[in-house]
Amino acid sequence: MALLFHHATLVPMTASGDEPTSRPGSVGVVGNRIALVTDDEAVIARFLDAHPDCRTIECTGRVVMPGLIDTHCHAAMTLQRSHADDIALMSWLHDYIWPFEARQTPDEVVLGMTLGVVELLLGGVTSFVDMYFHEDRCVETVERLGIRALLGCSFFDSNIDEAFAEAEKAVAQVTGCDRVRIALAPHAPYTVSRENLLRSKAFADRMGLPLMIHVAETQDEGRIIRERFGCSPVAYLDGAGLLDDRTIAAHCVWVDDRDMDTLARRGVIVSHNPQSNMKISSGTAPVARMLERGLCVTLATDGPCSNNDLDMWEEMRSAAFLQKLATGDPLVLPAYEVLRMATAAGARAMGAADGELGVLREGALADLIVIDIEKPHLQPVHDLVSNLVYCGKASDVETVVVDGRIVVENRQIAGLDLRQLYREVAAAVERIKRASC
Ligand SMILES: [Zn+2]
Repeated sequence: MALLFHHATLVPMTASGDEPTSRPGSVGVVGNRIALVTDDEAVIARFLDAHPDCRTIECTGRVVMPGLIDTHCHAAMTLQRSHADDIALMSWLHDYIWPFEARQTPDEVVLGMTLGVVELLLGGVTSFVDMYFHEDRCVETVERLGIRALLGCSFFDSNIDEAFAEAEKAVAQVTGCDRVRIALAPHAPYTVSRENLLRSKAFADRMGLPLMIHVAETQDEGRIIRERFGCSPVAYLDGAGLLDDRTIAAHCVWVDDRDMDTLARRGVIVSHNPQSNMKISSGTAPVARMLERGLCVTLATDGPCSNNDLDMWEEMRSAAFLQKLATGDPLVLPAYEVLRMATAAGARAMGAADGELGVLREGALADLIVIDIEKPHLQPVHDLVSNLVYCGKASDVETVVVDGRIVVENRQIAGLDLRQLYREVAAAVERIKRASC
């Protein structure tokens, strides 16, 4: 089945230098790939002739652009949204988050993942990187809802063997489905021992899996690692051989010039989580300086406990504003650069080859979104990219295509009873809270 998004304004995310960032045009999709990006009506007519079953979606007054890529998330933590806000980090973890998690059943984690993926999809996120427990149980949900995912089986020292078994199971489950992939996710350098970090890297290499980890998130983490090992978290992980171009390092807030050089040299993918960093008072990651060094910096929401939503539009806006505030320089992190972090750069975290994902280009994977810009907060249009990044909202996303399949249309996910989902989530949360009394 072919699709044609006709008469749109395209933001292909392929512009460089002074090239225009948007232009009128249409996008044709065949199978799971983009087959056509053009404004030539004669070429479009030939495309329609060649694909008589093609479904045409009229996009006048709409923007078509690549779907957003959230490179660090704990989607199942939607169950804990607003459960513990405005609390200091250590009390937050020990008194609220970890006791709640200890009482969750795997089925409840699946429910939280479902709610999280629904929120991501409705907000135009077509790919996400997740990090949590029971990811093997979530594979079916992610496959069914149609999002592209890299699911990281997460662990502390206490459950490393369970995580390895979970990862092996999940890898077998996703065999034959390129859209969902599995990774290994040691929690952080201060919660997983050196021995277990080495074991996890060896396991990941043997299984051909990427690795994701929280790195240099807080000043406290830096102090703990320096006291234990006499170096920074980045230097420590590098010494253990954990950093390479298949590593996603979430946060990287407290990194110095040497750390950034190490991350750049190793080709590590940095995941910047500005709203989470603000809410937990972690600090401001030196994103502008990382980009100057050529580091691959991507964008993410983190989990809904420290954000508290999974809205990448807010994340883009916060990333730009926070850098401008922190550096005192309004020129840093312009809108197009932020949009690139959330699309073309994020594609690297998903393991995609250059130009294969996060762009509207013939031959690329067909992950795209349609945005209704006929809204008061998106008019007038002096600069379309500025409007999207500085004014866009998750609710502006109308249609979402992942892997060539329409998964959201007119802001609805077909075949999903949301009211029923909310009822099930509420019942699960009640049970967990009662169990924790
Ligand atoms: Zn996180």
